[in-house]
Amino acid sequence: MNIVVCIKQVPASTHVKMDPVKHTLIRDKAGATINPCDLHALESALQIRENYGGKVTAITMGPFQAADVLKKAVGMTVDDGILVCGREFAGADTLATSYTLSSAIKKVCPADLIICGKIAVDGDTAQVGPGISKWLGMSLVCNVIKIEKIEDKKIFVKRAVEGGNELVSVSLPAVITVDKSINIPRIESIKGRFRELEFEPKVVNAEDIDCDLTKIGLNGSPTSVAKVFVPERQKAEHELIEGKNAGEKAQKIADFLFESKLII
Ligand SMILES: Cc1cc2nc3c(=O)[nH]c(=O)nc-3n(C[C@H](O)[C@H](O)[C@H](O)COP(=O)(O)OP(=O)(O)OC[C@H]3O[C@@H](n4cnc5c(N)ncnc54)[C@H](O)[C@@H]3O)c2cc1C
Repeated sequence: MNIVVCIKQVPASTHVKMDPVKHTLIRDKAGATINPCDLHALESALQIRENYGGKVTAITMGPFQAADVLKKAVGMTVDDGILVCGREFAGADTLATSYTLSSAIKKVCPADLIICGKIAVDGDTAQVGPGISKWLGMSLVCNVIKIEKIEDKKIFVKRAVEGGNELVSVSLPAVITVDKSINIPRIESIKGRFRELEFEPKVVNAEDIDCDLTKIGLNGSPTSVAKVFVPERQKAEHELIEGKNAGEKAQKIADFLFESKLII
């Protein structure tokens, strides 16, 4: 079974700043790391390999520095790492990103199962996994919290939904997106660290993955960020409610709400 895990490099700090002119993240100063959910996606793939055999490939679309997240994946013992990289991919929104990743997977590492994180901490849309399934015409299960089994070319999973959990099975090939609660990602072993040092990712560009140039990068992105700003805080008037005990304070609040006709 070929399992492909989509992993994204994201800013390492939650205190990233925005460029007020370009309306983009100032990524250089934040440092970079692997998207937290994607560690769980990698762990899920490695556990499936342990239980059912197969090959695990990690793929990322990003600048050359994004190879660092592939190294991390190799340290965790994935078999291969692919970097989709080129100026032509710059400015991609989620539609263009999912198209690019799906084209690369189709051409370079055809998959029986594609695992994505549920959401990326920077873009924060949770759209890329569903987008990949749409482009490749594969079944999709989002928000997976447990992989039950793989049997008869089907994957059985538990997913979290509002108010409970659901057991779902879909035919392979399929795309799943995983929640952080699904597992505890393994720590790289010493052997893994050595593999990491020797690892060179396979780098592919738009030509290598046979993609439609009108569907990638800025050209292929129907959405763009018009403005990014920090919301202004309204200075609110406030009054301190004094009282001997909670009952007296509650009575004062109730009186105030009735008098101001906030409660009728
Ligand atoms: C309106 C809009 C405009 C944008 N414009 C730009 C821009 O001009 N320049 C720019 O750099 N970015 C831009 N972005 C950000 C870019 O679209 C997103 O970083 C990218 O599409 C992934 O979306 P996300 O971060 O919401 O990922 P999510 O959908 O939240 O990610 C879910 C999962 O998908 C997988 N995944 C996501 N991205 C990748 C990736 N690159 N490689 C491998 N796996 C991945 C991971 O498994 C991840 O856990 C824009 C985003 C939006 C919404």
